[in-house]
Amino acid sequence: MTTRRVQNYVCTSCPIGCPLQLVHEGDEIVEIEGQECNRGAKYAKQEFVDPRRTFATTVPIEGALYARLPVKLSAPIPKHLMMAAMGEIRKLSARAPVALGQVMLRDVAGVAGVDVVASRTIPRTLCAPDPRAESRA
Ligand code: SF4
Repeated sequence: MTTRRVQNYVCTSCPIGCPLQLVHEGDEIVEIEGQECNRGAKYAKQEFVDPRRTFATTVPIEGALYARLPVKLSAPIPKHLMMAAMGEIRKLSARAPVALGQVMLRDVAGVAGVDVVASRTIPRTLCAPDPRAESRA
């Protein structure tokens, strides 16, 4: 006989933050309580079966008014791959101009279809040196 256990979560699907209790026997979900709407049950199931996370950060950029380009994941990735994703992003750098949504890295941490994308447009600044001009000289 499998022991019945309770996992506690806080639903982050909206600002209310309902406290959720997911009761399970091994891998089998028995019941979910505490949610104010259906999204809470969906959230708790996802957390129990395949917890995922997303994040935003910045990478260095050349030829722009700002020194850093804001980037984000295009979709959540498995929680256990977060450190691998951060390690890959840490090696990135960009060169202006960059457009909002531009893919900076495909399939981050080996997750097919999840990319690192620019979260803002950054034009090339006129006073920044054009690296292509150096190669033409
Ligand atoms: S269960 Fe519904 S109401 Fe509660 S935090 Fe989640 S989305 Fe919001």
